[in-house]
Amino acid sequence: MISISSHLNPPTTTLAKFPPFKVGSFNFLPLNSSMASIKHPVSISSSKDRSLSASRAAGEIHVIVGPMFAGKTTALLRRIKSEGDNGRNVALIKSNKDARYAIDSVVTHDGIKFPCWALPNLLSFRENFGDDAYEKLDVIGIDEAQFFDDLYDFCCNAADNDGKTVIVTGLDGDYLRRSFGSVLHVIPIADTVTKLTARCELCGKRAFFTFRKTEETKTELIGGADLYMPVCRHHYVSGQIVMETTRSVLESHIVKSDSSTEAAPVV
Ligand SMILES: [Zn+2]
Repeated sequence: MISISSHLNPPTTTLAKFPPFKVGSFNFLPLNSSMASIKHPVSISSSKDRSLSASRAAGEIHVIVGPMFAGKTTALLRRIKSEGDNGRNVALIKSNKDARYAIDSVVTHDGIKFPCWALPNLLSFRENFGDDAYEKLDVIGIDEAQFFDDLYDFCCNAADNDGKTVIVTGLDGDYLRRSFGSVLHVIPIADTVTKLTARCELCGKRAFFTFRKTEETKTELIGGADLYMPVCRHHYVSGQIVMETTRSVLESHIVKSDSSTEAAPVV
């Protein structure tokens, strides 16, 4: 398991008025007020905003990514359960696109189950959940986050303004290893980022990627072990070569049969 943590500095908005100074080829802003005299500090929030945010605990965002079968949902459920056991109010959200196991619960590949809200988007969650219930909520888990286009706005608002702890799990990459949905967009606003790995189905080494076993080329193709397998880098690359070769052989056959049809005399 690789864990990358980042810590946000306190707001430095008052310093942004000063021109950056140059060190080598990089631009740096002064990091503390003793480095520059500030004559007219800029207030970034009204007194009402300050008392509102002071009454709420600061929120957090934790992101768990990795290929399929890496145990992301299991890690999410474990965290949600332990938060619930510690007396915190928890809720779990998943996309209603993913109805592989059950529509009203999150189920891991090995059968562990937890009730959830299956929604088309995240911004409808508060409305569905109810304002009062939302206010009391401490922790929100989001499973299969790659299916939510409004992930960034939801996480930002829930953690920054509403003081919630948000745990986001999803695929960082699709079957072609391209960024999937908005999952990677939330990394700059996250407290922690964890990339889990699976076991390569072909050699048993650590697997970082999801390999699609079929010819289907649309990005969102929901399935389990019937369509996908976790693979190491070596087997991802060799597998893609096999798939591409097969595809080009098939395509050349189609072209040949098309041209032979065209060339055939019409009786
Ligand atoms: Zn392998």
